[in-house]
Amino acid sequence: MTDVANELGHNWRKATQLVRGGMTRSPFEETSEALYLTSGYVYGSPEEAEAAFKGETKRYIYSRYANPTVSMFEKRLALLEGAEFCVGTSSGMSAMFAAIASQVKAGQRVVTSRALFGSCNYILTEQLPKFGVETILVDGTDLDQWRDALSKPTVCVFMETPSNPTLEVIDIAAVSELAHAAGARVIVDNVFATAVLQSPLQLGADIVMYSATKHIDGQGRTMGGAILFNDENYLKNHLEPFFRHTGPSMSPFNAWVMLKGLETLDLRVQKHCDNAEYISSFLSTHSKINKVLYPGMDSHPQHQLAMKQMSRGGTVVSFEVGGGKKGAFKFLKALNLIDISNNLGDAKSLTTHPTTTTHQRISEDERLALGITPGLVRVSIGLEDVEDIKEDLEQALAAV
Ligand SMILES: *Cc1c(COP(=O)(O)O)cnc(C)c1O
Repeated sequence: MTDVANELGHNWRKATQLVRGGMTRSPFEETSEALYLTSGYVYGSPEEAEAAFKGETKRYIYSRYANPTVSMFEKRLALLEGAEFCVGTSSGMSAMFAAIASQVKAGQRVVTSRALFGSCNYILTEQLPKFGVETILVDGTDLDQWRDALSKPTVCVFMETPSNPTLEVIDIAAVSELAHAAGARVIVDNVFATAVLQSPLQLGADIVMYSATKHIDGQGRTMGGAILFNDENYLKNHLEPFFRHTGPSMSPFNAWVMLKGLETLDLRVQKHCDNAEYISSFLSTHSKINKVLYPGMDSHPQHQLAMKQMSRGGTVVSFEVGGGKKGAFKFLKALNLIDISNNLGDAKSLTTHPTTTTHQRISEDERLALGITPGLVRVSIGLEDVEDIKEDLEQALAAV
């Protein structure tokens, strides 16, 4: 758990922060960030331990609370996000759950956009209602629905933009204004855009969360997550006690891998976007495809808004193959290079069929209302040579 307000390096530009931000060297003066695999820390005297537990001194106590390698990761990500506080977590889902569960209680309301990652949907529509929290779902692109839902006092608003897998874009500034009038804190799941392309706190949101498993690691190795914000009251009275006592802490080893991931995040995300832009325009003219969804393309329904709040269109392209599920499966089976996998933001191009995997748990009606048709395929565009990605798509589409 990290407060970066007094850290060095505030004036560096983003790319520099990603390589050097938040680093603290041990007495050995190592070049690369040290990996502190330790659960506990020793005290020179009982008085020192007493002062640490009373909160009179700031030091490492136990790695469930904080760890030096995890702190370096938190500082580096906070500098990139422009946030005062960052909490690293064990996964994206533990970040999402802690960000909400730490601040709501029975009888209170949460308003959320409907188009969500499957596990976020479970927490909002099944887990929180078990605790007596009411969840209201709205169509994220319809401001009137947000306005209606936020006409009553609300504790928290949750949204994913762009959303998975249909890449819907939600107006963060407009929803934040409505949410603040209802007394709510706004949480943005910024996994698809990444901190490189979109800064929700600057647009009016209160809390940003990540699955660091995705682009931050970006090479398919480790699980992790993060919660970022500027509100000290939220830290002290909600998140910190919840986090310390429930223990969704990030492993130091994973933090060390993620620190190295951050060093190349900007480079990788830009290259992912180059490839995704090229692939989306290639697909948009293909006769076997009914429609292509990519926020960076002017055919996307919220393209203007996407370009207002994101610097580029992102790393994921979704499209509808003709012939429904049968067509989609023929296409997936014919791929040679692109792997079938539900992960995203990886160096390797990965594809998934949302209807039968990530979104199979929700009802068919709800799926269709979200635009998740049986022919829909999502491709996370990797870092391979873009001509190889294109050729693989081309030959697989020929099989449909
Ligand atoms: C993957 C993902 C999550 C969950 O992250 P994990 O690290 O898998 O727990 C949450 N939201 C979005 C949008 C995701 O893509």
